Amino acid sequence: MSDTSRPIPRLLDPCLRQITYLRVSVTDRCDFRCVYCMSENMTFLPKKELLTLEELDRLASAFIGQGVTKLRITGGEPLVRRGIMNYFAAMARHLESGALKELTLTTNGSQLRQFANHLYDCGVRRVNVSLDTLNEAKFKRITRWGRFDQVIDGIDAAQDAGIRVKINMVALKGTNEDELETMVRWCADRGMDLTFIEVMPMGDLGNEDRLDQYWSLRNLRLRLNEIWTLTDLCESTGGPARYARISETGQKVGFITPLTHNFCAGCNRVRLACTGRLYQCLGQKEEADLRRVLRENPQDDGPLIAAIHAAIARKPKGHGFDYAHQTVSGEISRHMSHTGG
Ligand code: SAM
Ligand code: SF4
Repeated sequence: MSDTSRPIPRLLDPCLRQITYLRVSVTDRCDFRCVYCMSENMTFLPKKELLTLEELDRLASAFIGQGVTKLRITGGEPLVRRGIMNYFAAMARHLESGALKELTLTTNGSQLRQFANHLYDCGVRRVNVSLDTLNEAKFKRITRWGRFDQVIDGIDAAQDAGIRVKINMVALKGTNEDELETMVRWCADRGMDLTFIEVMPMGDLGNEDRLDQYWSLRNLRLRLNEIWTLTDLCESTGGPARYARISETGQKVGFITPLTHNFCAGCNRVRLACTGRLYQCLGQKEEADLRRVLRENPQDDGPLIAAIHAAIARKPKGHGFDYAHQTVSGEISRHMSHTGG
């Protein structure tokens, strides 16, 4: 029997959802300290806990061999990991073979000036940049260590390199509520789509309070409706985002609302943490230690592929986040920066 007649492997979970999208957190480190993501004196994992770039390659390649067609590199801040461009260059071979349809990343934008052209050369055509405000002082308050100009310069560099930029804005009560219109117009003027994200209860934040930060996207959308005409789009990326088009600006806006809607029915993704733990659902404790399998079988991918299938067979039906009744429940103690946002 020839290779071409062999069935293409598929990763199917118990709800018969096909897993085609892998997010890989390549580091838990970051050059920012966003108030909703980590405390200012965040303790990072010991280096030995992190997968090497070679191990990350082996793992991602195993997933791609089992039918994953979209790979998003995230973190922490992926572009602060030393040697990360070698990793992108290595993953580009899967784009060239046709196994991978998209290689992309989520970044805070601080290092884009340095890396945008390399990323383009590695086949990256779209990138998500997180930016919650256009006000420099507020930016400092939110990111604590970030430099606003550097991020804007990074976005310029990405666009100049031919990479399409989408902005991710976390909706923060009392912080960026007043910038809704400005942000939509700014993105439209620059030809960028915009996705709003509800704060999720992940990680220990020190003195920050989740409920203080939480601004429901239901209210945000009502505000948008007062200014513009929004038409819902049917398209789904298999993730939590729902999309609409603003008639007046022509741009697409996304809403990631894990707390006010259930988005799990069509979920097509899993997350690989920088430690090699696979999280089948962002909002559940379910996990699988793929690093152990990987290191115990340095020459043979068979056990790793079996472990991946076994983990997918345990993918939960949905997350447990809930802010009902003004309390935070379903909270997850691990940080978004370990798991990869
Ligand atoms: N450092 C990169 C960045 O900021 O884009 C990539 C990693 S970051 C964890 C990925 C995304 O998660 C960002 O858009 C960030 O705003 C979002 N995020 C972090 N903590 C969050 C939380 N508790 N709730 C909702 N979104 C969060
Ligand atoms: Fe860093 Fe991204 Fe977390 Fe901000 S959201 S602290 S940029 S990992």
